[in-house]
Amino acid sequence: PIRPRSELDAVDSVCPYCGVGCALTYYVDRERGAISFAEGRDQPGSQSRLCVKGRYGWDYAASPQRLTVPLIRVEGSYPKGPLSADVRGEGTGKQATDNDRGRGGDGGNRSERKPGDKRGGNRKPGGLVDYDEVLPHFREATWEEALDLVARRLKEVHAEGGPGAIAGFGSAKCSNEEAYLFQKLIRTAFGTNNIDHCTRLCHASSVAALFEGVGSGAVSTTYGDVVNADVVIITGSNPTANHPVASSFFKQARRAGTKIVYVDPRASTVAEHADVHVQLKPGTDVAFYNAVMHEIIRNGHVDREFVAARTSNYDELAATVADYPPERAAQITGVDADTIREVARLWGEAGAAVVYWGMGISQHTTGTDNARCLIALCSITGQVGRPGTGLHPLRGQNNVQGASDAGLIPMFYPDYQGVDRASTQARFEEAWGTALNPDRGLTVTEIIGSVLQPGGVRGMYMLGENPFLSDPNINKVRKALSALDFLVVQDIFLTETAEFADVILPATSYLEKDGSYTNTDRRVQLGRKVMDPPGQARPDWEIEQDIARRLGLDWHYTSPSEVFDEMVALMPSYANLAYDNLGLTGKLYPNADPEHTDGTIVMFDEKFNTDDGLAHLVPAQWLPPKELPDAEYPLVLNTGRLLEHWHTGSMTRRSFALDAISPIAEVYMHPKDAADRGLAHGQRVRTRSRRGQIELVVRISHREQLGNVFIPFHFREAAANLLTIDEIDPYGKIPEFKFCAVQVEVL
Ligand code: SF4
Repeated sequence: PIRPRSELDAVDSVCPYCGVGCALTYYVDRERGAISFAEGRDQPGSQSRLCVKGRYGWDYAASPQRLTVPLIRVEGSYPKGPLSADVRGEGTGKQATDNDRGRGGDGGNRSERKPGDKRGGNRKPGGLVDYDEVLPHFREATWEEALDLVARRLKEVHAEGGPGAIAGFGSAKCSNEEAYLFQKLIRTAFGTNNIDHCTRLCHASSVAALFEGVGSGAVSTTYGDVVNADVVIITGSNPTANHPVASSFFKQARRAGTKIVYVDPRASTVAEHADVHVQLKPGTDVAFYNAVMHEIIRNGHVDREFVAARTSNYDELAATVADYPPERAAQITGVDADTIREVARLWGEAGAAVVYWGMGISQHTTGTDNARCLIALCSITGQVGRPGTGLHPLRGQNNVQGASDAGLIPMFYPDYQGVDRASTQARFEEAWGTALNPDRGLTVTEIIGSVLQPGGVRGMYMLGENPFLSDPNINKVRKALSALDFLVVQDIFLTETAEFADVILPATSYLEKDGSYTNTDRRVQLGRKVMDPPGQARPDWEIEQDIARRLGLDWHYTSPSEVFDEMVALMPSYANLAYDNLGLTGKLYPNADPEHTDGTIVMFDEKFNTDDGLAHLVPAQWLPPKELPDAEYPLVLNTGRLLEHWHTGSMTRRSFALDAISPIAEVYMHPKDAADRGLAHGQRVRTRSRRGQIELVVRISHREQLGNVFIPFHFREAAANLLTIDEIDPYGKIPEFKFCAVQVEVL
């Protein structure tokens, strides 16, 4: 029976998907042991709104495919290779090498596949991991046995290979407390800073530029502050799909008079709400923004007082952008010079102007340079530090801000305190009671490469990450995961990555535990336990603690709030926050008085967080992407997300409503590109790059530029990252997910 609201338990929590972090209430039918529905609730950043994911995307937690018991790989049983046909390089003219097939390790000697093994990954509807194929290669274990094995093997790998042989991938889906404990475990138990998470794949370059430019990786203002802006630039972002509720604030602001300049190669739906849509060629952002700054200087729209008092290196910046007159930029970007002038005029004449950006800025080999240009644009016009002004990288996952704040980054302890600063190291050594390694660790992308090198990483602890689908060039990822001596995966489902594990530990979804999460606005909110975990699944922080103890660490945390208190004591930005003062709506940090205020919306009103308090202007020269189209691969591939799905799909593809709305992998093509190849809407095609190939369905789309295609990366059965290139930005180490050369052809 469907029970009335009055008979349901209401549990206040936050949405687990995007960085907007909408506040919501789950209504739980305790007799059925299930959520009946979810409803948005009031909070300054979401105002009771929810998108389709928040409203309907919670039933995955009740999936019968949840992991409920620890699993250990059966000795001598290393099956398959999910997506094996593609992963083995078929269709690219390459055959599998020994390196492709993996080698031995404890908890299972990784043998080659036998002839006749079923290949090709799961072909069931939904495209998820084929449990029937994979599970026979694992056996159930007790928690004691599984945790003992994990601790023993990680210790052995560490003893054989030293600190550099161990690495950990944390997760932006876990709470702040779980992120904090995970980085503390890797750093203190193994003496390495080889600890990173998926921020490396989304905004690492933004953080690198922001930290260098303004001394903080967090946003300088909220997305709700757009209402105070005269002009907003939204760039490299499709907020309607990726930050839907934030997008509703942008559209609302426009109705109230804010002018929207949308700068993006795709004509996503925001373009329909924009006053100007700058549909530049992908990978030309530096040339465009340099030309805008060129015009701003020429028009006399520089805020001289602000530049003199609050910035450094203006002259070098001005000299660089002098080489980018609109006519030159027009040739590079494909945007006509008058449009560039119009954007410069709009921005230069605005009383208050703010920029919001997404991964179209960050996911390039020039991602840091792209973000440097945005910082410079705001700084030379004095558009930072007042209401309606500032810099806001729209963070992707619900806790990617918090996981970064908590120190899941190889170069920073919590709160972006550099591991290579002696004073910081001494502080953390004292707090954690052990010697720490002063060398920066490897990033996600470097760790994968390191596994394939002599003397590199040999053992990994993977917490809630799924690099098999999320990382670039997954042929290479698969080789690396297969080559590890030991891999432990802690997750809620048997992910594509878990198939490679030696031990799999069943964790809890966010619905089954308490924890704090920090959204893109710097709002720290509490997620509350809604239901009990299935089977023997346990909260991540408890599993981490049990492993830590087995590794000799004296941990005795009794609750997430106790961990939060320890974090706050080490994180000046989070000062004054505590579980019991976050309330129902959470609090922004920094916050001098959380009992009485919501926190700081606008940062940098008097000085920046850099050592000298100034914004550091860093000029950038435009550089082309690393792999340009040619006769064999004439199209540019752009990858990204859909409104209904989330990252590698392990959650949303198990959500009935979301998967029903968006069940298949498609390649979005300009009508002429499709017609030139004789392709029709709905036709199955092959898309291939130099690294692999996938089969999927054509969607004719007027939102694509001629010569460009778009593929979402949620679909295992057509994994976009088989195609992407693993070239990285030299500063942020982020891959170029937004540009590589491909061909689409008839099957
Ligand atoms: Fe969840 Fe983001 Fe949608 Fe809000 S906008 S409901 S946080 S996915």
